[in-house]
Amino acid sequence: MKLDVTATSFSDSQLNMQDEKLVIPQLQTSLETSVISAVHSYLILEEESQESGTTNNYNTNNGYGLINAGSAVSMAIGQTPYPKAPPIGGNNWGADMINAPTAWQNGYTGQGIIVAVLDTGVDYNHQDLNDNIWFNPKEIVGNGIDDDGNGYIDDIRGWNFQSNNNNVLDDNGHGTHVSGTIAGENNAIGVTGIAYNSRIMPVKVLDEKGSGSYTSIIQGIRYATDNGARIINMSLGGGSGSDGLKSALEYAASKNVIVVMAAGNDGNSIPSYPARYAYNSGLAVGAVDINNKTTNFSNRSGSQEIKYVTAPGEDIYSTVPNNKYANYTGTSMATPHVAGAIALMLSANPNLTESQVREIIVSTAENSTKPPQPNQPLPPSPSPFPFPINLFPFDLVSQSR
Ligand code: CA
Repeated sequence: MKLDVTATSFSDSQLNMQDEKLVIPQLQTSLETSVISAVHSYLILEEESQESGTTNNYNTNNGYGLINAGSAVSMAIGQTPYPKAPPIGGNNWGADMINAPTAWQNGYTGQGIIVAVLDTGVDYNHQDLNDNIWFNPKEIVGNGIDDDGNGYIDDIRGWNFQSNNNNVLDDNGHGTHVSGTIAGENNAIGVTGIAYNSRIMPVKVLDEKGSGSYTSIIQGIRYATDNGARIINMSLGGGSGSDGLKSALEYAASKNVIVVMAAGNDGNSIPSYPARYAYNSGLAVGAVDINNKTTNFSNRSGSQEIKYVTAPGEDIYSTVPNNKYANYTGTSMATPHVAGAIALMLSANPNLTESQVREIIVSTAENSTKPPQPNQPLPPSPSPFPFPINLFPFDLVSQSR
């Protein structure tokens, strides 16, 4: 089923404009000799400020606002904020917008970090991805034996929970697009991913139409967590929760695996599931356009404080199967920008806990670095498109713009 978010009709005046330039936050503590303790110090200060009632940096519209990968990386290793790197321009404007080049300039490109993409599969042969695909080192190719004893036979590069086999190729395009935003190679062609030296672990949990079951997604979260991923990108969601899904998310968090979840494309005042669980663990991601304006379609953060941030999600250029490229739109496209930024952080400091990653991402996001903005009430949700199925990827918008 194809949905068309262009049917939504919020006026600009109902959206929260975000025109100000990014302000690099100052570390509020003197630098410690230990990287981790520096992070702890900052987080303690953050908690104290919240206890004293200053939670104004959370906005019911866009949560903590646009992420800043450069600032997040510097905070991850207890450094003062890096000078901002020049933009790289072109189709990589999304990387510029979240300040990824500043992390790259300091040597952090996602190296050593595995990002699981729970989606429609990945074209692991794509010229702009093939060098950045995770490979299971403990599995012997094609011998029909579960060499590593993880319960999956010949899972050399991930697993297909739709068909219960090791074929993780993408029969839709969505998962390949998401993967390019995270780990597209820095090779002068196509797209450069936010964490262009990270590795994608393809975990196919959605079929060729973008539909999937809770069971597959729960199994996928557990597979990714147990097999080396530090980040799980979930550009998918639906209208109802699931105790099993929530438990799987908590399991991932308990292993310091952070799950990054699309807020959904319904223009609603709160995220869909599983992003709504980001009050507890993981991160929810809404979409802004090239001008850092909240998109009409993006589900908002809501009045309950959750770890919700924004990233570019309109007209995003990335990889699609068979060595092709395309522009997609949706919170599905915003989510991998955040997953990539976290890969940059973890390549700088792999010892960060799930909780620390969440705190640093929101602490360095745009709304946390400037005076509080008025919450603007949303109009009643038009709900032009009910949730047709339990779970679907959020690319379901016009791709022709
Ligand atoms: Ca195996």
